[in-house]
Amino acid sequence: MKYLKLLSVGASALTLSLAPLVADITPAEAAARVATDDATVKFLELLCDDHGGRLTGAPANEAAMVDLEEALRELGLEPVRETFPMQGWVRKDDTLTMNGPVAREMRSIGIGYIEPTGPISGPVIDLGAGGPKDFERDFPKNAIGLFGPSTKGRTDEVSARAVENGLVGLMFINRVGGGQLLARTGGFHGESLPLPVYSVTQEEGFWMRRLIVRDVPVEVGLEARSYTTPIETSNLRVRIPGRSAETVLVGAHFDSWDQGQGAIDNGLGIAQLLAIARVLRDEQLDRTVELVWYNGEEQGLWGSRYAIESGFDAKNPPAIMLNLDMVGVPIAVNAMGHDDLLPVLERWNNSRGDAALEQGVQNKSWVASDHTPYQVNGVRIITFNAPINAESVRYYHDFGDTYDKLTPELIKDSAATIASLVVELAQVADLPTDPLSPEEVEALLLKAKLDSRLKATGLWKF
Ligand SMILES: [Zn+2]
Repeated sequence: MKYLKLLSVGASALTLSLAPLVADITPAEAAARVATDDATVKFLELLCDDHGGRLTGAPANEAAMVDLEEALRELGLEPVRETFPMQGWVRKDDTLTMNGPVAREMRSIGIGYIEPTGPISGPVIDLGAGGPKDFERDFPKNAIGLFGPSTKGRTDEVSARAVENGLVGLMFINRVGGGQLLARTGGFHGESLPLPVYSVTQEEGFWMRRLIVRDVPVEVGLEARSYTTPIETSNLRVRIPGRSAETVLVGAHFDSWDQGQGAIDNGLGIAQLLAIARVLRDEQLDRTVELVWYNGEEQGLWGSRYAIESGFDAKNPPAIMLNLDMVGVPIAVNAMGHDDLLPVLERWNNSRGDAALEQGVQNKSWVASDHTPYQVNGVRIITFNAPINAESVRYYHDFGDTYDKLTPELIKDSAATIASLVVELAQVADLPTDPLSPEEVEALLLKAKLDSRLKATGLWKF
């Protein structure tokens, strides 16, 4: 309860006699408290080490969410599940072997939404970047295509092209070296891939390429056992009621890929949301703050799509949505094409003095995380430009995405900046909150040249 605010209209000497006089928390106070709070760091360590990766639909994902619910209840908050169906994917033992010129099992991994196939084997064909021109040739029977890390094509597009040309499998060379896999995972929307697709290491991928250049035949064999299946999963929501029902929604995806611990992507976001819950749980601000941990993000933005299209957020859209996906060291805040947010964000950043973001306010939308369904539906979005150092981020999606790639300082300092902005958004009087019209959204997305990517994922509705 905030007596000062309640009595601020027509305040009299009486105000002074009523204790306690508690002012609302300021952005700077929220940041200072979060920056020195080690509990969130500890929570993330246990979440990562006790459960490993949180693939949506897997038992580890559910067990980790139960831990988060308990942590929120201990804070006196009431987490609410938002359960929804989606097309899940179960990883089994997918194998890939080099049969010639050397016989050995390859370091590889099947990518999401491949289906049981094989065993089959065939000659490896170098598809370059996997673009349309790379398919203008005749392929031998049972060809298995190899394409490089520089491809711009979506996995489903390249897969469709491969099937049209009679190929029976695909391998893509990873974007980073050192035995890493899965730096590229494709853009998913729950449809089974029409042929088995594997991620292979740079080292073995480039090896195969060198052999092909010398006209040495390369043959691989594969057997895929992973499969898609309908599942049920949940988003988790917590509301911190404000003096008005107008809502600042702060979201982060809860799920990860399965090989590592999903610490960078996106345990960091889980912890940052929890830090906001910890600092604001006893506060009442002008606007309501709602925190949402989404599931199914990696596999096609399932949780956020459900929330906006079928769930609560369609009926009662938030005034604004701040999305936290791999927010490392914030160097800029992004108004995501919403010009009318610029004054609010500039003022916030300028007020931070020494803590001001070095690149200030940016204003260019991007897609492929949980803010997109909201933006498409007329909700204003904010994200951060916040890199994670290259030596850590190279491991994301793979087994090396583990807690040790993050430092306590990174977790606390990023959460402090986020908390400062959340308090500002919940308090600032001139935040534009009226939803955008479909015409305004379409113009914004066209200006950012996002229409073709949104059409490919079925999110374009104009
Ligand atoms: Zn992510």
